[in-house]
Amino acid sequence: MAAPKTTPLFNRLALIGAGLIGSSIARAAREQGVVKEIVATARSQATRQRVVALGIADTVVDSNVAAVAGADLVIVCIPVGACGAVAAEIGPHLKAGAVVSDVGSVKGSVTRDMAPHLPAGIHFVPAHPVAGTEYSGPDAGFAELFVNRWCILTPPEGTDPKAVERLAAFWSAFGAKVETMTADHHDLVLAVTSHLPHLIAYTIVGTAFALREVTQSEVLKFSAGGFRDFTRIASSDPTMWRDIFLANKEAVLEMLGRFNEDVSELTRAIRRDDGQALFDIFSERRAIRGSIVAMGQDSAAPDFGRPHPNLPADPLPKPYAADQD
Ligand code: NAP
Repeated sequence: MAAPKTTPLFNRLALIGAGLIGSSIARAAREQGVVKEIVATARSQATRQRVVALGIADTVVDSNVAAVAGADLVIVCIPVGACGAVAAEIGPHLKAGAVVSDVGSVKGSVTRDMAPHLPAGIHFVPAHPVAGTEYSGPDAGFAELFVNRWCILTPPEGTDPKAVERLAAFWSAFGAKVETMTADHHDLVLAVTSHLPHLIAYTIVGTAFALREVTQSEVLKFSAGGFRDFTRIASSDPTMWRDIFLANKEAVLEMLGRFNEDVSELTRAIRRDDGQALFDIFSERRAIRGSIVAMGQDSAAPDFGRPHPNLPADPLPKPYAADQD
């Protein structure tokens, strides 16, 4: 095993949930040496066995209570709707002074669901690594997932700043950029940058798929256009996204209302043949993509830098080749 790169920040890390995010944390924590020991658990025996086979934790236990015993950092890496019940289960068994965190994509509801079950003397620092892929499960994780991605911490008022600093150092060791904000602010920002785009992707993929009879499956055949990117987003885990929309209902509905107004604006411009309005709107929106690239949040390479196959060596069917007699 390679020598750890960092002085350990915590002795024992307990991971509850070992899917994409939990298993990526395990891999990164081991690689960077930020903890001395990793204990993991997952709901199903199949996932626990897979974690053992992958060798990404020092110990795999079969209950949440066993996982948190003696842990000084506990990270709950499960769908947001399940966090409250898990907090109730582990609350009485946490080590005094432990830092408890999560990775949920919604912060207000998780804080409200978990905090009441955590006894005094436990430092609760909710977190959201804004990093992921459309894949799930322990095999999907990788240590580099968080490099150059944001990790947003939303400590409730009165949280010990030292606990926040320790957790920030933990995420920074994975190459993440850490920012702190309130849970409500997080939920509003993510509603528009992440949750609404997923809702649009789920919708447009359904609309196009419903047309497949009419278009004789051309929707699927020609899906390499912009539609392909929507299908990738819409292949994300349904449990996780069900929980996100229910947990961030208010902010998502607010953003959806604004989005519908903007769609109406475009609809009106098209209906009225208002080319100038369309051109102005598109020019303004194109500049937004430029600023995302300039901030280093995405690649400037054409088509997101996807590899393109080489030209075929012998592209023309024989009857058209120039050297034929
Ligand atoms: P995942 O790959 O599907 O893994 C989920 C884990 O949670 C699995 O270990 C699963 O156990 C366990 N689990 C599922 N339902 C549970 C329940 N009711 N009670 C206890 N454990 C349960 O999911 P993930 O992508 O790692 O997402 C985990 C969390 O990270 C979610 O809160 C999500 O919002 C957040 N997040 C996800 C992304 C992303 O892009 N995927 C990005 C940032 C944050 P079994 O395998 O045994 O069923």
